Amino acid sequence: MNLNLHPSEIQGVSLESMAKEFGLPLYVYDGEKIVNQIRSIQNAFSEVPLKIKYATKALSNISILKLIRKAGAGIDAVSIEEVKLGMLAGFDPTEIMYTPSGVSFSEVQEAVELGVMVNLDSIPLMRQFGEQYGNRVPACIRINPHILAGGNAKISVGHKHSKFGISIEQLPEILATVSSYDLNIVGLHVHTGSDILDAEIFLKGATILFDAAKDFPNLQFIDCGGGFKVAYKDGDPATDMKEVGEKVSKAFLDFCDQYGRSLELWLEPGKFLVSESGYFLVEANVVKETPTITFVGVDSGLNHLIRPMLYDAFHDVYNLNNPAGNENKYHVVGYICETDTLAADRVLPEVRQGDILVIKNAGAYGYSMASNYNSRLRPAEVLVWEGKAHLIRKRESFEDLVKNQVSLEF
Ligand SMILES: *Cc1c(COP(=O)(O)O)cnc(C)c1O
Repeated sequence: MNLNLHPSEIQGVSLESMAKEFGLPLYVYDGEKIVNQIRSIQNAFSEVPLKIKYATKALSNISILKLIRKAGAGIDAVSIEEVKLGMLAGFDPTEIMYTPSGVSFSEVQEAVELGVMVNLDSIPLMRQFGEQYGNRVPACIRINPHILAGGNAKISVGHKHSKFGISIEQLPEILATVSSYDLNIVGLHVHTGSDILDAEIFLKGATILFDAAKDFPNLQFIDCGGGFKVAYKDGDPATDMKEVGEKVSKAFLDFCDQYGRSLELWLEPGKFLVSESGYFLVEANVVKETPTITFVGVDSGLNHLIRPMLYDAFHDVYNLNNPAGNENKYHVVGYICETDTLAADRVLPEVRQGDILVIKNAGAYGYSMASNYNSRLRPAEVLVWEGKAHLIRKRESFEDLVKNQVSLEF
């Protein structure tokens, strides 16, 4: 077994001891890994004035946000609740970018009152914003670059038929709207999708913004979004951050020369910062042989990790307790009354009832997409930092599950 790929401990803290202390199922995050990912972007873009705006929705625990803030990044928030979480974690409103999609105008007003930058995602919103604030509140515009990219149709958000952003083909209408309301546009934004491998795709998105930028004289930043790909299994290709950094930085510096001023370059990585930091520990409740398949039923399911069902995502799984066992092929399935296959056709060392299985790459879009479906409770979260395991979210209780329900008498 490859210990780098299938670790039994994180920063010297054994996964088994954490399972004992905090119970199962359990999300465990390696804080060092998150900080290292931030450093790798900062290093790749060291030639330009870079700001990282972590995409909060990937993993929104307040302690994780605090760690990311300590490492020198800001955040991107897609809801007013994420804005407030960010502020609770200590971010100054000026460090928060608010990128909503089709929200009510009252939510936009609330964000403006809190002092965060709003990323305008439609022409009607530009008009409403202009009527309300004119040029008094600076804003950013989210452009849809019409690039089809990303790992899965559901996570490609920058193509022609996507709901996100304002079509680059509508640039004349954007400019007319800016001018009729005298909007103060200080940033242009693209976010093309998730799981994008190719540096050329990032460059393409950036180039579309650079071209559009010449019509916006007040810019302070160009925001190229997130979507960097990470490896989900051994040998999987991942975004070559160094290459993206070199290519995009060079194009950005050339653009600034032409623009006549130095601007900031913003990036919004979500998955890239937190995916590999996360390990989801579950227990094998049952090993069930059928005439065709051997199932391992675990004490979790799509209520805790929905990516395999929602995106056909592959998550590597290993057996923490029996690493040297004889290998068999298994379907690892959840306990939810749906077909919630977490991992299909996996060769694992023999899984016995009670073994702990570890699901990798669980940091991004794991807990943050968890639900109470089947009236199940959400797990606890633990952050390992400086060689110590810290509980950063308590396991839900039955009381949590019912606390907002109103029980009528009949
Ligand atoms: C989700 C999102 C991101 C991050 O995407 P990743 O694939 O996790 O890097 C960045 N920007 C915006 C606006 C997003 O909605």
